[in-house]
Amino acid sequence: MDSLVYATIKKITEKIEQNKDFLTDLDREIGDGDHGINMTRGFTAVLTKISLDDDLDISSTLKKVGMTLLSTVGGASGPLYGSAFLKASAALKDITTLTAPVLGKILTASLTGIKERGKAVKGDKTMVDALEPACDAFVFALSQNASCLECMDQAIAAAKLGVEYTKSIAAKKGRASYLGARSIGHQDPGATSVLIILEAIREVIN
Ligand code: ADP
Ligand code: MG
Ligand code: MG
Repeated sequence: MDSLVYATIKKITEKIEQNKDFLTDLDREIGDGDHGINMTRGFTAVLTKISLDDDLDISSTLKKVGMTLLSTVGGASGPLYGSAFLKASAALKDITTLTAPVLGKILTASLTGIKERGKAVKGDKTMVDALEPACDAFVFALSQNASCLECMDQAIAAAKLGVEYTKSIAAKKGRASYLGARSIGHQDPGATSVLIILEAIREVIN
């Protein structure tokens, strides 16, 4: 498979593992304290299922990642991240190299997958609050002919603001919504894992 794609998935797994306790602590405040555990279980399983020697194009690789996340992550985030990768897979038929426009397609399709599956909109205190501004920023930077790295930097800056924004709002979707206004003041775990994944991608295309 494409070595950049493999390196990216490996880096995502590493960074999710490094942030396992952080994500779980965030989820303990407004959820059930398992987001870091769920994500680590999922991406660890992904790494056992793919190899640099696989004869898989980008679309097939993303499909494998999505199916594995669907069957191993559990909770709300499993089907959501699973849908993200499956939607990205479907958007990338016949593509062999990871360029900036391809990455733009992956991010946009992922967002569509998550929104279709979870029905959350911006302001619901979910992953969407990090991913939607990140996508918008990436697509805008791309339209200005920015490099892939510059596009990712813009996307990450926007995702960081999105994660900060989740602290100021009450959750309307997912477990945290049971807390209503008591969820205000806490950072959303799923928005945070989105940012961590974007930072992993950024490190690899560096
Ligand atoms: P669970 O809540 O089932 O334990 P996780 O803890 O793994 O699942 O994931 C929680 C995260 O999932 C939340 O922080 C939020 O970002 C995200 N989430 C929950 N419901 C939705 C939804 N409908 N749309 C988008 N993201 C959601
Ligand atoms: Mg949880
Ligand atoms: Mg759970």
